[in-house]
Amino acid sequence: MATVLDIAKRNPNAAPVAVSDAARAAGFIEKTAELNVVAGAAPGGASLVGLTRDQLKDSLSAIGVPERELKMRVAQLWHWIYFRGAKDFAEMTNVGKELRAKLAAAYTLARPQVVSEQVSKDGTRKWLIRMPSTGPLDKGAEIECVYIPEVDRGTLCVSSQVGCTLTCSFCHTGTQRLVRNLTSAEIVAQLIVARDSIGDWPDATPPEGAFVPTDGGRFVSNIVFMGMGEPLYNIGDVIAAIDVMSDGEGLTLSRRRITVSTSGVVPQMERLGAEANTMLAISLHAVRDELRDELVPINRKYDIKQLLDACRAYPGLSNARRITFEYVMLKGVNDSDADARELVRLLKGIPAKINLIPFNPWPGSKYECSDWERIERFSEIVYRAGYASPVRTPRGRDILAACGQLKSETEKLRARARMMAEQGIGAEGVYAVGNGE
Ligand code: SF4
Repeated sequence: MATVLDIAKRNPNAAPVAVSDAARAAGFIEKTAELNVVAGAAPGGASLVGLTRDQLKDSLSAIGVPERELKMRVAQLWHWIYFRGAKDFAEMTNVGKELRAKLAAAYTLARPQVVSEQVSKDGTRKWLIRMPSTGPLDKGAEIECVYIPEVDRGTLCVSSQVGCTLTCSFCHTGTQRLVRNLTSAEIVAQLIVARDSIGDWPDATPPEGAFVPTDGGRFVSNIVFMGMGEPLYNIGDVIAAIDVMSDGEGLTLSRRRITVSTSGVVPQMERLGAEANTMLAISLHAVRDELRDELVPINRKYDIKQLLDACRAYPGLSNARRITFEYVMLKGVNDSDADARELVRLLKGIPAKINLIPFNPWPGSKYECSDWERIERFSEIVYRAGYASPVRTPRGRDILAACGQLKSETEKLRARARMMAEQGIGAEGVYAVGNGE
């Protein structure tokens, strides 16, 4: 991939890039940041929260913990940080006083700053999170993270980049410039922030009146990489974050309850399956290359055939581990009976489920949502062909939590002003992707 994934340190909250139709037509499918600076100078800054085992080991070495003790000390820290959610080294009662003092002198267990928390009428929560600054010119990247509770599961939608490289024409986030990649620690920290906020640690309790799953399981049981960014353009950190999130001695999320959604970065799909072993979702949205070139412009690099071949080769694919295909319903664009039949034909032989997503028009978008009867008809054709095709109910509409609406603060304020004027919100929609578990 020729994409440059860098920090624009000069002004991380700069105005969005306006991606015109003409630019798209000319092949403008990927944005690059203004400056080429290495992302994430220090993972998590001086905080140990979010670090991998190797990074923790290095941090302990740096304060003089002898080599022979490192494995045991990492295990202790791991338990306190990721199993118990410790916020203070003083809580670590099985760590000697002297080492606790050393740790406290050199590091913190600080979380990224929660700038705001919004709670939807339907229980969906959205946090605006500011990451620690990575240098004097960086005000701290801001990302949004959304929690979607249901009776039997709680899904956390996390971001992998600040902004997005790509320019999908139906997506609000696609109009934002790419600021930088998130480090693995910053990705993990989103889960820590969510668990802090909803009391998802041993001995913690959820805030009064909070809607959390009631089946006795974990409050955050599923993760979807469907927030800001294209995860496969930050695959190293995404895989490292998944390793931390799924570690059996800490956060213990099943990899089968982690779904990574890609717009179709074909060359990285096999690596994701082989190394992260997660569920896969594909932002498909069109069944003909000509249309997908417009809706999801990365299709010009990797067309539908290449994408579906990569799906067929996805490691671990089986009926128990189906690929989710996301399909946003755009009136008069991709919602005909013929489109539905072609979708069925294309997916033949791929263990799949299809999420039909009613489009939420956003200010400036040129698309409309398909009529309800049309969505039902489309769904029926797909269903009759043997595919589960749930129509996902958008969640958190009142707090702008739908995917593609995830914007950093500067843009959010602009969007709100426009929205008030135009009475419209939304883009693609955040959904609790059903892994069926
Ligand atoms: S749909 Fe996803 S990949 Fe496409 S522009 Fe939006 S955030 Fe980026």
